[in-house]
Amino acid sequence: MYFVANWKMFGNLKSINTLDKVIKFSKSKEIKKGRLIYCPPYTLITSFFKKFKNCLIDIGAQNCHESNDYGSYTGFINSRMLKSIGANYVILGHSENRKKGETDKLINQKIKSAIKAKLKVIFCIGETLREKKRGKTKPILSKQIRLGLDKINKKSNIMIAYEPVWSIGTGNIPKPKELEQTVEFIKKKFRGKLPKILYGGSVNPQNISNLKNINNLDGFLIGGASQNSKKFIDIVKKTFN
Ligand code: PEP
Repeated sequence: MYFVANWKMFGNLKSINTLDKVIKFSKSKEIKKGRLIYCPPYTLITSFFKKFKNCLIDIGAQNCHESNDYGSYTGFINSRMLKSIGANYVILGHSENRKKGETDKLINQKIKSAIKAKLKVIFCIGETLREKKRGKTKPILSKQIRLGLDKINKKSNIMIAYEPVWSIGTGNIPKPKELEQTVEFIKKKFRGKLPKILYGGSVNPQNISNLKNINNLDGFLIGGASQNSKKFIDIVKKTFN
């Protein structure tokens, strides 16, 4: 089971000290089959990398530019740069970036560049509340998968994070049955080797018991709760207990 911490635009050098608890936990038996991945803001990737050097916690970024080449793109960072400072993962297609104008086509280009740089991709998909209410969840997910993964044959380095937009940061989570059906629907979109599927949206220590037994789910993408080490550890512990 994967537990991906998305710190969004939070954290500073002082936050690094809060990771001691998680490092200790990652070396204990309690971690069981949990694999931890931290995606801090760009500014903290190097510090996290150093902090995690003696443990198995992995590092990712929260976005990247679509070009593999260096170039005159003020303010951007590409996947090669991320790989060179120790990131192994990148979150792409997050709804907070789609809202800012990232199109499926752009996300597709970013995924291709990340794969080329040998980063593993956490590819986020999800419907808005309006789309859900109109019964459009399946066509929206299909479109995001089709366009986002267009002309990408080798999908072994891609994980899908199903993140209903209406669930992110709201405290609302899908009903277990509904989530199980959506995960099943996503799996069916893939032939051959199935991608790992994560769920993201308001996961916390209180609601993890409703989510942990969903069939075919390979882990969680955790925003708000992951910034608190105790809550993050509790989510992992409760997943296995
Ligand atoms: C996210 O932003 O990917 C996320 C899941 O956020 P939260 O857990 O805060 O809803």
